[in-house]
Amino acid sequence: MLLPRSIKHCRACGGEVRYEVPADDNRDRATCTVCTTIHYENPLNVVGTVPVWDDKVLLCRRAIEPRRGLWTLPAGFMELGETTEQGALRETIEEAGARVEMQGLYTLLNVVRVGQVHLFYRARLLDTDFDPGPESLEARLFGEADLPWDELAFRTTRRTLELFFADRRTGRFEVHVGDIA
Ligand SMILES: [Zn+2]
Repeated sequence: MLLPRSIKHCRACGGEVRYEVPADDNRDRATCTVCTTIHYENPLNVVGTVPVWDDKVLLCRRAIEPRRGLWTLPAGFMELGETTEQGALRETIEEAGARVEMQGLYTLLNVVRVGQVHLFYRARLLDTDFDPGPESLEARLFGEADLPWDELAFRTTRRTLELFFADRRTGRFEVHVGDIA
């Protein structure tokens, strides 16, 4: 999780970092007191899927902190060298061991408080042979009625699932853009 003023040491030389406004800038930046390298901090993308089988959605129970033991859609930090869609597919394979056909962007949720943007894609499960990876305790299909609404790990997961089941009733899935306070 990216928190403001979290950088203590320079990634280039190991020197001490101080937060100050560089010339021609307008906000504090982590600036090395030794080699003057400026370390810019910007929001990170979290990418994942809503894997669907009939009227059910695949959730993973987290084996790692934060929110160990709670349920989430398969998702994680985007890596360099991949698109958002490729990252979402990779996370679905890594966390759930699920085979899916990607179906397009579904939600884009700004989580300004922690400096993240979460993007979820709809995905059609090709089978129900799941093989959860080390980051998941289990992977299981849930319908709207038996979904563990009180044991969800993240608010972006909750928002995406609420939107999904609401859209499912109308049969119209559009891209939703929103902010999580
Ligand atoms: Zn330095």
